Amino acid sequence: MNNDFDIIIVGGGPSGLSAASFLSDKGYNVALFDSSKVIGEDVVCSGVISNDIFTRYDLPKSSIVAKLQDVELVSPCGSYIEYSHPQQSVSVVDRHKFDYELFNIASKKGASIFCGSIVRSININEQHVDIEVLVGEEIKNFKSKIVVLATGVRFNLHSKLGFGRPKKIIKAIQVEINEILNDKLKLFWGSKYSDGFFGWSIPLDDGRTRVGVMTEGNSKEGINNLLCELNYDLEKNNRCINYKQRGISFGSISKSYSKRAIAIGESAGLVKTTTGGGIFYGILSAEIASDVIDKCFSTNDFSDNTLCEYESGWKKVIGNEIKYGQYFHNFFSKLSDDSIDELFEAVGKDGILDYISRRGNFDWHSSAVVKILRSPNIRRVLLNGFMSTKLRLAI
Ligand SMILES: Cc1cc2nc3c(=O)[nH]c(=O)nc-3n(C[C@H](O)[C@H](O)[C@H](O)COP(=O)(O)OP(=O)(O)OC[C@H]3O[C@@H](n4cnc5c(N)ncnc54)[C@H](O)[C@@H]3O)c2cc1C
Repeated sequence: MNNDFDIIIVGGGPSGLSAASFLSDKGYNVALFDSSKVIGEDVVCSGVISNDIFTRYDLPKSSIVAKLQDVELVSPCGSYIEYSHPQQSVSVVDRHKFDYELFNIASKKGASIFCGSIVRSININEQHVDIEVLVGEEIKNFKSKIVVLATGVRFNLHSKLGFGRPKKIIKAIQVEINEILNDKLKLFWGSKYSDGFFGWSIPLDDGRTRVGVMTEGNSKEGINNLLCELNYDLEKNNRCINYKQRGISFGSISKSYSKRAIAIGESAGLVKTTTGGGIFYGILSAEIASDVIDKCFSTNDFSDNTLCEYESGWKKVIGNEIKYGQYFHNFFSKLSDDSIDELFEAVGKDGILDYISRRGNFDWHSSAVVKILRSPNIRRVLLNGFMSTKLRLAI
């Protein structure tokens, strides 16, 4: 086998597989290494994405397991806001199938994809990159002109390339229950489920429900409280509950490129700071990276001079989305349950709900965040909650 490639991609999630497609499409000789034996096999994900992604990237829809139009947002005291999006529906995918479709597309376009292959080290040289891969018990060496890191929430290759880590890693835990626990997507806020974030319950068309929690606190306790809230008999089913937990990157890494290297998707911390969704930003950053890598080859310049265009490219499109989500989270995560209840009331005023129903978009949140932060009622609740926490901590 020839071990020389134009581009080597590390990681076969949506980001890496999309990069493999985009770059193979441009005629490059691409190799992708993924540690799992079968693509998508070990994924933990709710799989909620907008339908726009399928159209925008011309993706097959066979992985869709539910379509959702209605959402119920539940406050800590149990009051709720119902919201139905008139124009855009949201899909839930089976991530194993979704990733496998991306794998098929990339393979058909000519990418060489190696599963069960763990990239152990990356050495950047003047003219090329050396990559050491563990395949079974054997170490194999490969070469390329540039390397793309798409390793998700694994950061062991980052520091040697000069890449930092995301601001935080949030715990996310999920179970799949073999019965329908509610008839629409429900999102739950409150300290008994989550510290700083939220929980979810997603009905699937095949009669199952995905229940999960994203939290900085005790994830197992949070998800069990949510299962109880959904009237799931925990005691009876305790032994057969298959909890799956993983981290979610929160906040982009300080630098996402260095000589002959680029980090994309969750490995660059490119995840929605409002919801923890990383599939869309992963594919988007792969697309931006592919255009810049194409430019590196055409100018034969793999230095920071050209690669910095990747970071300015993603910042232009999603930089504010990530930043505004962080601002909102900074205030929101300090709120007590009572303040979140007040916030729910405030959302009904100042036309916020109306605005979100008319203009809200599943993938683009910054304008809704700005609208929310500008609402006098919401500002009052956020500031009061923020100040009383500061005061509590100071005493
Ligand atoms: C409970 C939960 C629910 C979620 N729900 C949603 C959701 O509803 N919608 C949404 O958009 N996002 C969701 N996410 C986030 C989403 O799953 C991730 O952001 C997304 O998978 C990131 O894609 P990626 O390709 O960047 O990384 P990943 O999908 O994590 O892929 C990285 C791949 O790299 C491989 N890898 C890592 N290191 C190496 C190495 N050294 N050598 C070889 N291979 C390596 C890994 O095995 C993995 O296959 C959720 C996450 C969790 C935990």
